[in-house]
Order: sequence, then C-alpha cells, then structure tokens
Amino acid sequence: MREKIDLRISEKRAREWLPEDRGTVIGSGIIRQLVVDVDDPILGLVADAEAHYSSNGRSFFYGWNFRREYSKAELEAAEVFQAIFHPVEMAGEEYGTRYDEAASCPICASGAAQASELVLECKRLPKSKDLCRTLAHEIVVSTRALEVFQRYQISGIEFEPVKCSPSNTQSDQWMQMIVLRHDAHLVSPIVAGEKPFEDPRGEESQQYRCPLGHRLGLNLISEAYVERASWGGEDIVLSREYFGARMGLLRPHRLVLVSQKVRKAIEKEKLRGVAFEIAHLV
Ligand SMILES: [Zn+2]
Repeated sequence: MREKIDLRISEKRAREWLPEDRGTVIGSGIIRQLVVDVDDPILGLVADAEAHYSSNGRSFFYGWNFRREYSKAELEAAEVFQAIFHPVEMAGEEYGTRYDEAASCPICASGAAQASELVLECKRLPKSKDLCRTLAHEIVVSTRALEVFQRYQISGIEFEPVKCSPSNTQSDQWMQMIVLRHDAHLVSPIVAGEKPFEDPRGEESQQYRCPLGHRLGLNLISEAYVERASWGGEDIVLSREYFGARMGLLRPHRLVLVSQKVRKAIEKEKLRGVAFEIAHLV
C-alpha cells in the first residue's frame, strides 16, 4: 500500500512552521495544501505544530484526508474491504424521515433506528453516481446497482423504496440499501480519534469514545481491522462500532464492509460512487 496524507493548513501558520517550498498554495493564497507520503519527515514538523496548537484547544491543520493506493496483487489478496460511498449533502430527516431515538445511547447518540421510509429530494441525487450516502449515512443505490447486486446474488442486504420530496412519489431511479447485519467487530490495531497526529490516550481522542463501547471515535484514522471470528460470511456487513457524532443532520454511523465478490462486481459493472480500502481480518 502507498499511503499519503492530504493536509489543508492556513498559509499563515504553514509559513511559520513549514519550509516555503513544501506544498501548494490554493484558495486565493490563504490555504497550503500538503500531500505527502506518511513516512515523509516533514510530518515530524506537522506533528510538532499540531502538538503546539492542540495544547490550546486548536488545530494546526483544519482539513485532512488519507489517500490509500493498493497494488493489483494487494487488492486481489484481500478478503474484505471498507466501502466508502459518495457523500450527498442532505439527509432523510430534513424531508420527514423519522428516527426512533429511544433506542439511541444517551452518551454517544448511536443506535437510533430509522422508523419510516426514507424521503429525500431525489432530484438532488447525482445522476453520475450509482451509490451514495447521505449526511446520516443512509445508503441509496441506483436501479442499475440494484440490478447488479441481485444478478450477482450479493448477500446481507435488502432494498426499500425511496420517496421523493415534495411530491411524495416513489423514486423509480433510487432505492435505499439496508444492510441486515451489524456485527463485524472492529479491533486492535485500529486507530480512531478526532484527527491524525493526536495522542490516542489524550483528551481529544478520548472525548468521542463511548464508555459503553458503541463509538470508537469521531473518525477512523487507520484502515479497518475486523475480528475474523465476527465476520459471518455475508457479502455486506456493517461494523458493530460507530464513528461520528449527532450534530445537525449528522448521525453516528457504522462502517460498511464488503466481500471481494462485491468489489469485483462493482468494478466489472463499472458502478460509480464507491471507493474501497482494504479491511484486515485479524
Ligand atoms: Zn454509546
């Protein structure tokens, strides 16, 4: 695997802490974008700067993303993948989709169950994609993706209609994908936290960890590691544990884990809107 990190830093701070020739200035000169391999020594400077700012409750960088690239051999050898869906900036709740909050954890707010059909503003779903997820991690798939999943006999999922707001008619282009099991247990050496470069035992990292074990952190930082004994052999399974927070339309969410068969079907049929990271069965 080749692993890079893409960091967005205010140019003012970047000038103070980093060599001038590293990274690219974007955003009309106010943002430095730094894309480097994770073993690049410059990340030592980033870690020092982050330690300085986070001790004051701030952050040196304000945007980050890992880019993980795999060789063909690595992809072929993997058993399980994390599926990362194209995000759309809406959620069922804003169009009347109901949730049963009674089942949710009072500490981390995870576990609320969808209690009505999914309603979305369907015309805002991108025609260029076959798989998307909302801000609340409701997964919607195109009728083409549905046909592919049925033809390949992908197990572990069901489909429910999506209603379109404001007409309240059923979409003939999108369905909600419901994943039936959520027992893939995420285990060490998985890293969860608010952001990279933080002390995993530090306050920032701990503040989103649910003491009842539901939520591991605000974000997944590393690749996913799944306890082998908990992988039941369905093609699509959710993680037992959650990430994220209840904030506005956002909800804590589980990881979507898929078999090699699913990755191959999606690639062969050229379904759009999903990226894969290897998840390790340990
Ligand atoms: Zn909890």
